[in-house]
Amino acid sequence: MNTTLVRGIASDATWIKHPLACWTGNSHDAGNGIVIRGSRIVELVARGQEPQTLYQHTFDASGHVVLPGLINCHHHFYQTLTRALPAALNKELFPWLQALYPVWANLDDDAIFASTQLALSELLLSGCTTTADHHYVFSSIMPHAIDVQVAAAEAIGNRVTLTRGSMSLGQSAGGLPPDSVVESDAQILSESERLIRAYHDATEESRCQIALAPCSPFSVTPDLMRETAKLAQQKNVLLHTHLGETEDENTFCLKKFGQRPVDYLGDVGWLNDRVWLAHGIHFNDEEVQRLGHACIGVCHCPSSNMLLASGMCCTLDLQKAGAPVGLGVDGSASNDGSNMMQEVRQAMLLQKLRYGAAQFSHLDALAMATQGSARLLHRPELGEIAVGKQADLALFCLDEPRFSGYGDALAALVLCGAHKADYVMVGGEWKVKQGTLLEQDIHEIVARHTHAAKQLTRRLTA
Ligand code: ZN
Repeated sequence: MNTTLVRGIASDATWIKHPLACWTGNSHDAGNGIVIRGSRIVELVARGQEPQTLYQHTFDASGHVVLPGLINCHHHFYQTLTRALPAALNKELFPWLQALYPVWANLDDDAIFASTQLALSELLLSGCTTTADHHYVFSSIMPHAIDVQVAAAEAIGNRVTLTRGSMSLGQSAGGLPPDSVVESDAQILSESERLIRAYHDATEESRCQIALAPCSPFSVTPDLMRETAKLAQQKNVLLHTHLGETEDENTFCLKKFGQRPVDYLGDVGWLNDRVWLAHGIHFNDEEVQRLGHACIGVCHCPSSNMLLASGMCCTLDLQKAGAPVGLGVDGSASNDGSNMMQEVRQAMLLQKLRYGAAQFSHLDALAMATQGSARLLHRPELGEIAVGKQADLALFCLDEPRFSGYGDALAALVLCGAHKADYVMVGGEWKVKQGTLLEQDIHEIVARHTHAAKQLTRRLTA
C-alpha cells in the first residue's frame, strides 16, 4: 500500500486509485477509482478523471480487481467444527441431519466462540464483508449461543445478521431432531425478544443485526411459526428459515400438515417481504409466482445443494417472478468451506448448467452475491459501489499462476477461481491487508477451533 500525503489539505478521505478493474454493480464508472471518507463512499472517479473531493491518502490499486464486499446470506458457523465428518459423508439431507444432530447436541460456549471466529475469518479472507448466520441448536449446556456469537463477531469485524434459530418439534412429537435439542415455544420467544432488545442495531452503519429463524417446517410447530412472525413484525426484524430444500420436505409437510411448504408458509403468516428462505429448490410454477408476488427473498446455496444432491434453485424464474435472490455458502458441514468467492464461481457454473451458457454470466453471479444478498438482508446501503453507500470493498490480485494468460480481468476472477482477497475494507476500515487479518492472529483462531472440534467429535466416539 502506498500512502501519500497531499500537502495542505485537511481531510480524512482516501482515493483508491487506478484499479486494474472495478466492478461497481451498477452503470457508474469507477475506472479511475473510489474516494472514501469515514465509513462511506463519497466519489466515484471515472476513467481518465481525477477526484473532485479533497483527499489525504491514496491507495494504489493498479494490481487489484475491486468489488463491493461480498454478502453471505446463509451459514451455520458451528458446522465448521464438523467438516467432512465420516459419519455424515455421502448422505442426502434427512439422513445427513440425523447423523449430525447428536454431535451438535454437545456444542458448548467454547465451541460456539471458536467456530464463529473461524467462520468469520474464513469469510473475511475470501472477500465477504457481511454475513448472516442461522444458529438453531440450543441445549441445556449452551442456552446463550447468540450472546457468545455477538462477542466473537465483534473481534473479527465483518457485519453480521445473527438469526435466533429454533427447534420445537422433537422426535417424540413427530419432528426430525432429537428431543435434547428442542426448546419450548415460550422459551424461544422470550429469548428472541431479549436478543433483539440487547443487540439489534438498525442503523446504516450497523455491524450487528438480529433476525428470527425457526429452523425448518420439519423441526418447529405451526404455532411457533405464527408467533415468531408476529414478534418479527412487532419488533421490525427479519424472518428466515430453510424451505424447498428437498422433496423429502414436501412429503413431510403433506403428511404432517396436509399441505405443501409454500401453502404452509401462507397459513402461518410468512408470505411477506420480511422473509428470506435458504435453498428454494423444490417449488412448482405456481409457488414461484406466489413467492415472487410476496417479494420473498431466496438464498441460493449451490455447493451445499450439489453435495447433498438436493437439486438446483430456479434463480432466474424466481427473479423474473419478483423474488430477490442472494447467495450463501450454507453450513460448513455441507459445503464444506466458507469461501464466498468460491461460492460465486459455483453459482455461475450451476446456473449455467441449469439455464444455458449464455443465460447466466459471471456478472450475474457477482450481482447475486452483492446486491441480491443486500436485498435479502434489507441492507440497501451495502452491496454496491456508489456514492453514499457504505465503504465495504474486496480487492483481489491476479498474480497467481491460476490467472496467468487472462483476457478479461473481472471474468478471470470468477472463471479462474479466485478464493483469497488481498485487501478487505468494512465501513472504511481495512480489516485485511496483503491477505492477512489485521486485528487477529489467524493461527490462534485456528488452534482454538481445532481443539474445540476435537473435543466435540471425541464426545461422539466416547
Ligand atoms: Zn442451512
